[in-house]
Amino acid sequence: MGKVYLTGAGPGDIELLTVKALRVVKEADVIIYDRLANPDILEEAKDGCEFIYVGKEDSHHTLPQEEINEVIYQAALKHENVVRLKGGDPFVFGRGGEEGIYLFERGIKFEFIPGITSAIAVPEYAGIPVTHRGITVSFRVVTGHESSGKDHSQIPWENYKSDDTIIFLMGLHRLKTICKKLIEIGKPKDYPIAVISRGTRADEKTVVGTLDDIYEQAKDLPTPALIVVGKVVKLREKLSWFENKE
Ligand code: SAH
Repeated sequence: MGKVYLTGAGPGDIELLTVKALRVVKEADVIIYDRLANPDILEEAKDGCEFIYVGKEDSHHTLPQEEINEVIYQAALKHENVVRLKGGDPFVFGRGGEEGIYLFERGIKFEFIPGITSAIAVPEYAGIPVTHRGITVSFRVVTGHESSGKDHSQIPWENYKSDDTIIFLMGLHRLKTICKKLIEIGKPKDYPIAVISRGTRADEKTVVGTLDDIYEQAKDLPTPALIVVGKVVKLREKLSWFENKE
């Protein structure tokens, strides 16, 4: 029986892979990877390494989670070094916990390897700090995609009245609703918001606007994309660096 490395691949830029993740990729007998993990990472694998794609299209799973769990488990029965490569960090809306529990219940050894999460790194590449002295003392990372209760929101919108930075993952398709909800709880219509598409990749694109006008500007951006709400968005005027790099 092998060991499974539940590994964060970082947000896209291949150089944002950790040294530890690179080591297990090089040693892997099989790599089970997502759509969000940069496929160039696979080129680092040794000859003969097997690749299994279990891609997820944002919230639309091409393979149900239960099947992915089973693919990982079966790989661990056959191979010594199994790498489960996931976009960003395995625990930030990555279902890494579920995969770990599935393996635990079947007596398979595993390790988690943290990755640089898109929630922080993607705003950073866009020149938006998630915290900034004098502007915000905290940030929240929230799912924009709610799996259960179509009419009933599980998001505690009333808690979002403060100036905390809010980062919505998986939320582009619900951008209009998100802006509407934030205005409903009392945020000004001209409150700053940004949508960052394909962050940390060569084709990264950021659109900045207000709760009132962002939808029209950002609705057709390609995925993956995340949403940042907060006064820190304004700092991009001075801190933008990646998209205007020569
Ligand atoms: N575990 C991942 C997040 C998985 S949820 C992490 O820690 O980064 C998937 C969501 O992450 C996407 O819907 C999108 O909102 C966001 N995301 C991931 N990579 C991104 C990127 N390169 N640019 C913009 N958003 C990204």
